[in-house]
Amino acid sequence: LSSKLPHIGTTIFTVMSRMAAEEGAINLSQGYPGFGADPLLLDLVGKYTREGYNQYAPMAGIPQLRKVLAEKTKLTQGYFPDPELEVTIVSGATEAIFSAVTAIVRSGDEVLVLEPAYDSYEPAITLNGGTPVYVPLRASDFSVDWEKVSAAISSKTRAILVNSPHNPSGYVWTEGDLEQLAALVRNRDIYVVSDEVYEHITFDGIRHISLGAHPELKSKTFVCGSFGKTFHVTGWKIGYCIAPENLTAEFRKVHQYVTFSTVTPIQYALAEYLIHPDRYLSIPGFYERKRDVFVKGLEKTGLHFSPSQGSFFQLASYGHLSQVSDRVLAERMTRELKVACIPTSVFYSDKRDDKIIRFCFAKEEAELQEALRRLGGLG
Ligand code: PMP
Ligand code: GLN
Repeated sequence: LSSKLPHIGTTIFTVMSRMAAEEGAINLSQGYPGFGADPLLLDLVGKYTREGYNQYAPMAGIPQLRKVLAEKTKLTQGYFPDPELEVTIVSGATEAIFSAVTAIVRSGDEVLVLEPAYDSYEPAITLNGGTPVYVPLRASDFSVDWEKVSAAISSKTRAILVNSPHNPSGYVWTEGDLEQLAALVRNRDIYVVSDEVYEHITFDGIRHISLGAHPELKSKTFVCGSFGKTFHVTGWKIGYCIAPENLTAEFRKVHQYVTFSTVTPIQYALAEYLIHPDRYLSIPGFYERKRDVFVKGLEKTGLHFSPSQGSFFQLASYGHLSQVSDRVLAERMTRELKVACIPTSVFYSDKRDDKIIRFCFAKEEAELQEALRRLGGLG
C-alpha cells in the first residue's frame, strides 16, 4: 500500500508516554491530568449507564447537552449559539477539527497553520487533498505576526486553523488578534477552524475570547472545544463544534459518517453536570495554582521561561545549558532524571530545534514538586 501519510510516524505523545512508563519516570510529556475528575460527574455517568442510556445518541448530540453548552457559552463568552442549528456534540476536539476541515477543504486548497502547531492539524488537511501553508509565530513570545499571516494568503487559501490558548506555548489571543484576523478574512472566501480546547484554562486575569463571540468572525468560524480537557477526563473523547447554521449543516454531513454520534451516557451526565456554572468557572483558579507551583520550582532549575498564560503547558528553554537536540534532551531527562517532557521541534513542519521543551503541569502538587526536585539535577 502506498501511504497517504508517508512522513507521519507514531505521535510524540505516544512515544514519550511509552518511554516514561518504561523508565518509571514522572510523565509531564503527553497532556493529560494526573488526577481524577469530580466524583459527582463519575457518579452521573454510572447513573445514566445503569438507567439504560446506552444506545446511539442523536447524531448532533442530545438536545439537553447542546442547550446547557449554549448557556455556558452565553455565560462565559457572551453569545448564545442556537442549540438546534449551531451546536454539535462530537467525539473529541480532534474529531471536531477533522470534520470541520473535511467539510471545507478540497483538493488544491491551501490552509494556513500557525506554528508551532498541534500535530493533528496537518494530517486533517493533507488527507483532504489540501496543502498546509505554515506561518511561524513570533519566536520571542509566540504571538501572531499578522504581517506574515497576511503575506501567506493566496487565491487558493480556503481556511486558517488557529489555536488559543495555545498548545504548546500557552499564548492567549488578545482582542487585537481577533481584529487582525477579522480584517484578513473580510471580503474573502476564507473559513476559520478555531481550536479552543483550553478555553477554561487561563491565568493572571487573562480571559479567553472565543472567535464565536466576534461579530464578524462568527459567521466564518468553527469553534472546536473539548469536555475532556475542561473536566479532567481526556479519555472520554467528547467535545463539540459551534458554527453558524450553514457551516454546521456541512459539518454534520461529515460528522455523521465519521462517527455518526457520540457516547450517550456521558452526554447525559455532562448535561446534568454543566447546569452549575461554578463547575467550570472554578477551573482557571484550580490550574493557576498548579502553574504557580510549577513555575516557582522551575526558577530553581536554571531553565529559562516566561510563565504560561493559558493551557496546562509550560515551555522552557535550555540552550544556555546544553547544545544537545531537544529530542535527545527529552530522552535523557526521561531516562536519567526520570521526568518526561515533549521536545517542541515536533510542533514545527521543518522540525526546527530551538532547544525548548514542554512540560504538562496538570498533575497533583506532590508529583509536580517531586518532578521539580529531580529537574534540579539539570544544571
Ligand atoms: N487541540 C489541542 C491543542 C490539544 O492539545 C488537544 C489535546 N489532545 C486536542 C486538540 C484534542 O482534544 P480531544 O482530546 O478532545 O480530541
Ligand atoms: N493534546 C495532548 C498534548 O498536546 C495530547 C493528546 C494526544 O496524545 N493525542 O500533549
